[in-house]
Amino acid sequence: MRTWFTYNDRMNSKLTFPKHGPADRLPKHDRTAWLKAGAARCEQPPRTPQGEAWRIVLLGAPGIGKGTQAELLCDRLSTCHLSTGDIFRTAKCLQEHEQTPSMKDALTFMRQGALVPDTTVLGLIRDRLRCLRCSGGFLLDGFPRTVPQAEALERILQAENVQLSAVLNYELPIERIVARISGRRTCSQCKAVYHVTTRPPKVADVCDQCGGSLFQREDDRPESVEVRMKAYETSTRPLISFYQQRGLLLSISAEGSPEEIYQRTRVLALGN
Ligand code: ADP
Repeated sequence: MRTWFTYNDRMNSKLTFPKHGPADRLPKHDRTAWLKAGAARCEQPPRTPQGEAWRIVLLGAPGIGKGTQAELLCDRLSTCHLSTGDIFRTAKCLQEHEQTPSMKDALTFMRQGALVPDTTVLGLIRDRLRCLRCSGGFLLDGFPRTVPQAEALERILQAENVQLSAVLNYELPIERIVARISGRRTCSQCKAVYHVTTRPPKVADVCDQCGGSLFQREDDRPESVEVRMKAYETSTRPLISFYQQRGLLLSISAEGSPEEIYQRTRVLALGN
């Protein structure tokens, strides 16, 4: 029995997407349960989607802009941005005694730009299963990143009786991506993403959304970037055919500004 809907099934169903829905007026999603797991709960309940909730996986090389698109799409689809990289960055901000041994190991891999081992990543995902079954849906960014992770996700979703809606694969030549990464800045508080030339904050080094200070990620430095690109080619690129075979893949050019890419995504993936 087929355990996923193809993208065409989804587009032929009676789903609606608010152009300027209530999502525009609501504060950002509460991602406490995702970022902290354990007993942590989101204080703000998930927004009720119009129609069925979207459950999307974002693919693409590191630095291609998945995080930026994820934020824009989440506002539009009233769903939650679940980034595995954000889990690691949140853990990095904890005091050393608050970090578990496996999280400390994971952070060492991350600093070098290498992939965190599948067993560690899957352990983190299993601690956050309720985010995958959340009625508001989800937008996964940075997971799955290897074929074993994708196979494990498939098994988890099957057990939860949850179907993926689509896998959006962003594409851009590697040298252009490297230029994007070198200008990327992230908010130390709310994790919003900026770029010094293509998406600058209104005030230099200050987040427009929360006033937090902006910083360059350790793994955005040149020596880590090379390792990340190799890991992408070897381990993550094979996911394109994995999801193509399941009829879920939509490839989208990541040329142009974040807004242009978002408009392209809307037309191609959401149909408006
Ligand atoms: P980017 O996509 O720009 O590389 P992310 O925020 O998704 O950034 O990930 C940052 C780092 O976190 C990765 O380089 C890797 O070390 C680690 N990481 C995140 N998600 C995964 C994953 N699913 N599997 C293995 N490592 C991961």
